[in-house]
Amino acid sequence: MLKTNKLDKMACLGKVLVVEDEALIRDSIVLALIEEGYEVIVAEDGRGALELLQETKLNSPQNYPQFDLIILDLMLPYLSGLDFCRVVRREGNSVPILILSAKGTEMDRVVGLEVGADDYLPKPFGMRELIARCRALLRRHHHIQPLMAAETILKYRDVAVYPQECRVTMKGEEINLSPKEFRILELFITHPRRVWSREQLLERIWGADFVGDSKTVDVHIRWLREKLESDPSHPEYLLTVRGFGYRFG
Ligand code: CA
Repeated sequence: MLKTNKLDKMACLGKVLVVEDEALIRDSIVLALIEEGYEVIVAEDGRGALELLQETKLNSPQNYPQFDLIILDLMLPYLSGLDFCRVVRREGNSVPILILSAKGTEMDRVVGLEVGADDYLPKPFGMRELIARCRALLRRHHHIQPLMAAETILKYRDVAVYPQECRVTMKGEEINLSPKEFRILELFITHPRRVWSREQLLERIWGADFVGDSKTVDVHIRWLREKLESDPSHPEYLLTVRGFGYRFG
């Protein structure tokens, strides 16, 4: 990546993931970080950022986490900054996260910190302050970095999904799922309580080219319930949202 003559002088350099959908802000953050000697990777929305994290992790699990710091906007397309943060922490990834947001109220700050962010910078902000906070976070994190989990585990109550092994357990007991059922459950567990329409599920799991009926989704949900729920007619995990679709939890 780009290097500057400041590189040698910096005590805490690292690889920074910048997740920001507004190009102007993103570009100025990237420039400021590169100026300071950081290596910078960008994502334009929450889903892209999550895919990037999972992809880099799969490619070199030894060095997980692949980023030393994440600068995260809250209002993002597809997956909000808060949801992204929740997923990252649920996976046991302790990478420092600095939230940027136009929502500068105390409540928003509290929510941001509660879902696992390490710091919160309200917009608009000065680049010098941003850089100073990045440095502080990296310094702090280098002292307390714990051992990383070798494997991602997505957990929700008694359900655990092991994405690398395509394995699911319920109360520790192995459950056999078809590939489609597995992908539905993986999608649900990474977005707890999010409501999905049948059409959204068809597009995400079966792909935009799928020719068929949204009843396919209902059938797969029924099969999943039979495998996951202790009483499939009164589900606790895979809930129907009347007139719309489904949600998990
Ligand atoms: Ca935004």
